[in-house]
Parts: sequence; C-alpha cells; structure tokens
Amino acid sequence: MGSGPAGLTAAIYASRAQLDPLVIDGPQPGGQLTITTDVENYPGFASGIMGPVLMDEFRTQAGRFGTKILNVWIDRVDLSAKPFTLFGKESEDSADISHIITTDALIISTGASAKWLGVPGEAPIPAGFGGNGVSACATCDGFFFRDRPIVVVGGGDTAMEEALFLTKFASKVTLVHRREDFRASKIMQDRVLAHDKIDVLWNTEIREIMGAKETGVDSVRLYNSKTNVETVFPTQGVFIAIGHKPNTELFRGVLEMDAVGYLKTEGRTMKTNIPGVFACGDAQDSYYRQAVTAAGTGCMAAIDAERFLAEQLHEAEKNTASNW
Ligand code: NAP
Repeated sequence: MGSGPAGLTAAIYASRAQLDPLVIDGPQPGGQLTITTDVENYPGFASGIMGPVLMDEFRTQAGRFGTKILNVWIDRVDLSAKPFTLFGKESEDSADISHIITTDALIISTGASAKWLGVPGEAPIPAGFGGNGVSACATCDGFFFRDRPIVVVGGGDTAMEEALFLTKFASKVTLVHRREDFRASKIMQDRVLAHDKIDVLWNTEIREIMGAKETGVDSVRLYNSKTNVETVFPTQGVFIAIGHKPNTELFRGVLEMDAVGYLKTEGRTMKTNIPGVFACGDAQDSYYRQAVTAAGTGCMAAIDAERFLAEQLHEAEKNTASNW
C-alpha cells in the first residue's frame, strides 16, 4: 500500500522475486517527491533529477518486472485472518466498496504528510505558492534560497532543525512561533537562540502568504496575538515545520504504533506485530524521513515478506507431507 520510494522499491524487489505484487496507489501517486522540484541528494543522479521524473522511473522499473498498480482508496482492512483483505473505493468520497483485494503478505508504505497551516497562499502551485517559495522540507528545498531571507514556522524540534539547516543558505532566518515558549528540546532551542542568523518572532501567526506567480513569495501577513497587530513582513521563502503525520489511521487499534502514529517494527526488520504485515518508509520512520532511506526500508520489507512467504510455503508443504 503506497507508491512512494518505499512502496515502489518494495515492488521492484517483490516482482523480481516473482511474488506477483500489486501496488495500491492511493491519493498521491508517487508520494511526497511528486510535490518537490529538483532532487539533488538521491544517489545515482549526479546532476539531480526532478522529483516527479524520479518517481516515474521507479514506477517504470517496477512495471518492467510485472508489478501491477491499482489506483484505489483503501477504506478498511481485515488483518485478522489470512489471506488479509483490503476493501477499496473508487475515491475517498465514494459510498461503495468497489474492490475487495486479498493478499498473503501486506507491505505498508503509506508515507507521511506534512502538516500545513491552511492559510491563503500556502496551497501548491497553481492555486498558491507551494513549490514556488513555500515548502515543508528544508533538506529538499533549502538550496534554492541561497542569500535570501526566509521564514520558518513552528516551535518544535523539526522547526529548530529546519531553521538551523537553512542558515547554511539563507541570508536571514526568521522563526515564527505562535506562543512564547518553544516545545523543542532545550539543546535545540539553545542552538537556535544563540545563532546570529536566526531571529524569533514570538506570539506570532502567519495569516497569509503573498507574492506573484512569476517571482514567487515576497511577503507574509503576520498577526501578533499579544498586541493584536497585523503586519506585512518581507520574505522570499516560507518553510512550514509544524510536524508530519504518518498516514496510518487505517491501522489504529490493529497494528502497534507510537503516540504520533508511526508504525512499530521489530528490531532491524520491517515486521509489524502481525506476521505477514510489514511497514516501511515514512509510515514507519519518524527519524530519517529521506527518499533514499524510504527506498532502503522498502527493499528490507520486500525481503522480509519474501522470507515470510517462503516459510509459510515450507510449513504448508511439511503439513501436506506429514498427512501422507
Ligand atoms: P511537534 O513537537 O509536535 O511541534 C510542532 C510545533 O508546531 C509546535 O511548536 C506547535 O506549536 C507548532 N504548530 C502546530 N500546529 C501549528 C499551527 N497550526 N500553527 C502554528 N504552529 C503550529 O512536532 P515536530 O517538531 O515535528 O516534532 C515531532 C517529534 O519528533 C517530537 O517528538 C520531536 O522531539 C521529534 N524530533 C526530534 C528531532 C531531533 O531530535 N533532532 C528532530 C525533529 C523531530 P505549539 O508549541 O504552540 O503547540
């Protein structure tokens, strides 16, 4: 389930192992890389590659070995008996179940979604400046803001990390936080507060992101909740760092997950608490969250699934033999 780097890598390995994989596309085929531009840190592409192009390559490679891909919204799953059953609908809003899919092994690679503020100007292009000055990934997009002033939103560890990382590129980083205390760890707060390239605007919310289609973001409308004053603040980039949410709601109460919703896996494997169900990529990894690490865990999940299925087959053959 899921067709980002983790899911499609799992499919490449599973199809080459002749496991007849079906990839469920879900609402964002190709995953989070399809909403970025240049990917410059994926090994093997010395001059960089556009995110959507990279994901097309993943897809073609999986298809080459016989992977089938189905675009369907999975409404619920039954993991209580084997084979596992997935109940799919044409879209999230459809009333009826249109697909019932059974499988001997399930790899969950449903990814995570950045949380967004929901303010005007934030939506992806062409509706807003998403991808044209607004980003939720400093590692992906920081490089494009060399010598430009930028704003980072949030008060947790992610915001601290993004702000510190962006000081390598930006001329000035302004951290905008809605309260007067950070919730980030003390050590990260201290680093941010001591950095001469970072300013903090406390008790401040972004109400609107503004600019022009051709040139991107040029300012944000800020609101200070202590003074009730609105101001227009010039900036050329806005990094939203208010957390990510793993796309794992479907498995709540069924699979073990942490408090935020990241699926738990066993030791160095990608095994969940249900034998035959594996998790990889951003649905399982709250720490590294990179395309290349997602692809790596996708590979691991497929190898774990292959071994699981081989063991099942072996058990079945043993039982058949002992019945003679
Ligand atoms: P987080 O700890 O939940 O912090 C989210 C921040 O965004 C909070 O400061 C919150 O403000 C703010 N926020 C949330 N919704 C907002 C909104 N609509 N408008 C404005 N601000 C909003 O998330 P996180 O920073 O992604 O961290 C998640 C977990 O990963 C944490 O456990 C963190 O320690 C861990 N992490 C660790 C590291 C590291 O150790 N290097 C790096 C990254 C993440 P309030 O404070 O007012 O609620």
